[in-house]
Amino acid sequence: MLFKDDYKHKGLRKSLINTLKAKGITNEIVLYAMESVPRHYFFDDALLHHAYEDKAFPIGNGQTISQPYTVARQSELLDIKEGMKVLEIGTGSGYQAAILSQMKVRLFTIETVEPLYKKAKADLHRLGYNVRCYLGDGSLGLKRYAPFDRILLTAAAPKIPDMLFEQLKDGGLLVAPVGDKKTQTMVRVKKHGHERITEKHGLFAFVPLTGKEGWKN
Ligand code: SAM
Repeated sequence: MLFKDDYKHKGLRKSLINTLKAKGITNEIVLYAMESVPRHYFFDDALLHHAYEDKAFPIGNGQTISQPYTVARQSELLDIKEGMKVLEIGTGSGYQAAILSQMKVRLFTIETVEPLYKKAKADLHRLGYNVRCYLGDGSLGLKRYAPFDRILLTAAAPKIPDMLFEQLKDGGLLVAPVGDKKTQTMVRVKKHGHERITEKHGLFAFVPLTGKEGWKN
């Protein structure tokens, strides 16, 4: 892993930001975070030269680091305010966690694949991001730290898990790709008492959510 961020990486990030703007990302706080966090820190050495392409890449254990546009879009849909308590399900490489941490939230992130959890936790801490990492089944949320202002799923869910909705504060937002294993609709749900106000935000492709409330096989 290369922890060196030189003018070349910064230049590549600038052009990635222009790509994100051209694709419709407008939130300045999101764009600033995407320009600040070195995505190449979350890549294996063999794939380093791909770090600033707007594409998802393998991170081992059959999982992926999400496409930058997807990370930006999910971050934008979360409508983050500084100091919010946020839960991410699917730490993966830790890149999305670093972006949210850069946006000055109190971030809790949970991963079910142990080697990914260990690596992301070590990388995030080594890089100085203040993120609380947990190993476990995120489809059940993180009840002992609930309620959260925001919940983000970065794996494809067959439906919004009830346990996650319960762990949202009143007025809170949950963003998740919901659909089948191939294609999902990005859904944003607002909690209004016991009611759910649901919006749809386009089609995406994520790896499946596993666990009790995820896909069984
Ligand atoms: N956010 C990640 C990043 O920035 O690299 C990308 C996430 S990857 C698309 C989805 C991740 O969700 C995988 O690492 C996978 O192991 C994890 N995952 C799937 N089901 C899970 C579950 N039930 N609980 C926690 N993590 C889960």
